[in-house]
Amino acid sequence: MEKQEDTGKRLIDKEQDDFDAIIVGSGYGGSVASFRLAMAGIKVCLVEKGRQWESHDFATDSLEIMSTVRMENRNLSFSFGPKDALFQVYEHNDSLAAVACGLGGGSLVNAGVMLPTPVRARRNPKWPKEWERDWDICEASAAAMLRVQSVPVRFPVAKVMGGIANGEIEDGSQDMKLSINFDLEEPPSNPMKPQQMGSCLACGNCLAGCPYNAKNSTDKNYILSAIQAYFL
Ligand SMILES: Cc1cc2nc3c(=O)[nH]c(=O)nc-3n(C[C@H](O)[C@H](O)[C@H](O)COP(=O)(O)OP(=O)(O)OC[C@H]3O[C@@H](n4cnc5c(N)ncnc54)[C@H](O)[C@@H]3O)c2cc1C
Repeated sequence: MEKQEDTGKRLIDKEQDDFDAIIVGSGYGGSVASFRLAMAGIKVCLVEKGRQWESHDFATDSLEIMSTVRMENRNLSFSFGPKDALFQVYEHNDSLAAVACGLGGGSLVNAGVMLPTPVRARRNPKWPKEWERDWDICEASAAAMLRVQSVPVRFPVAKVMGGIANGEIEDGSQDMKLSINFDLEEPPSNPMKPQQMGSCLACGNCLAGCPYNAKNSTDKNYILSAIQAYFL
């Protein structure tokens, strides 16, 4: 507790300091960038418009979920729902976008499926050549950080999704893996201290946020590790 208070105070003190980099948004993009930069000794300020969500904050029934949505229609200039709602739906002209808002961004509410990058994507000439060489190392490092695990149960409702995913996996010997904790695999040899996780109870609430703290959203790994790296 004392250590936490000390860390909090130092965080506030550090806010007075200058930063070398400011990152906007804490989804996969922002949190991975924050962690990598912090590991390289760069002073990072990560800005997130949403709040921090704890497992007990997530809605678990359809009535409750309505209070976690904000709709904004730019054409008609109207909006409703709390500004820091977990789900933000934007309608503009003929486009509709639904995004997550909170520390961890989309990783709080997504399905956590991690597929190996298809060769056609790796070899896309738009990517720098060197990236293909390091791809496996980077993918393994992300899988370890997100604690990606094989699904131990064959959920009947996941049959269609499994079929689609298996069509995308080029190496047929591999299962579809999720960044969800099933408590079956060894924690990674991550140099940073991972957060204590819960275990998946197959409640099916994944897309509204995991009420059992079993989803490895980026607030529990990359962002936490970026903060730890900051104080090393
Ligand atoms: C329902 C659903 C299921 C999905 N399932 C999967 C899956 O299984 N596997 C997979 O790989 N991908 C999945 N995705 C996609 C994946 O979640 C996204 O591609 C990913 O989250 C995008 O990351 P990002 O960092 O670009 O943006 P986001 O994760 O959207 O993060 C952006 C963050 O920026 C914040 N922000 C926005 N504007 C500002 C501002 N002005 N100031 C400060 N903060 C701001 C937002 O609040 C948000 O937290 C899914 C997506 C959805 C919606």
